[in-house]
Amino acid sequence: MNRVTPEMIQSHAGQRRKMVDEQLVQRGVKDLRVLEAMSRVPRHLFAQDSLLHRAYGDTPLPIGENQTISQPYIVGAMTAALGLKGEEKVLEIGTGSGYQTAVVAELARQVFTIERLNNLSRKAQKVLEGLNYMNIVFKMFDGTYGWPDQAPFDAILITASAKEIPESLIKQLGEGGKLVAPTGDTDNQKLVVLTKNGGRISRCELGACKFVPLIGRYGWSAT
Ligand code: SAM
Repeated sequence: MNRVTPEMIQSHAGQRRKMVDEQLVQRGVKDLRVLEAMSRVPRHLFAQDSLLHRAYGDTPLPIGENQTISQPYIVGAMTAALGLKGEEKVLEIGTGSGYQTAVVAELARQVFTIERLNNLSRKAQKVLEGLNYMNIVFKMFDGTYGWPDQAPFDAILITASAKEIPESLIKQLGEGGKLVAPTGDTDNQKLVVLTKNGGRISRCELGACKFVPLIGRYGWSAT
């Protein structure tokens, strides 16, 4: 994609405001920086052309390769749970369309994002480069290994579900850092937030969710 023009972004500003108000604010997402970021990031540019009219709807959307761009509320709730202030180094597992990568890139110093499917990673890179994000580093690989030579991370976001959060990723979380991830099997998943303090991990749950599987060495096997 070529450089995105202000007109391309502005064209959906009303829908974005409505999405933020009705799907995020009214359901309890309070982090103003997250709300502002999601009012800015042009979600329609990450949706497939045939689904443009549903880009700001209250649902996940297919992005090809049997994967999805997460529902706006889930993106907002997960991002808010990271508590980003602006200086963090963030690891994201599951670039997907790149939409949540963009939201996090608006809120943190640097984002390292890993996607196992080459086509999706390439497509996301194109859109994000078109939007001129300079603080995103991409990798095509099995993200269950994390990114050891860039660890520790101030925050880790996993956007696909494993039975348990891989230890390999928990190890790469820095002191005071937060990791947000769905866990569980196909039919029974919850969003979990881990916090590392004094080397110890505390855990809280944000509620039920439904994500595609985290496939890899420390996740589910590819079928
Ligand atoms: N947040 C993304 C967005 O805004 O479009 C949606 C991510 S989608 C729900 C989950 C992604 O995780 C898929 O693109 C999938 O291919 C990827 N994935 C699954 N297992 C992975 C792994 N081991 N390493 C990296 N990516 C993985």
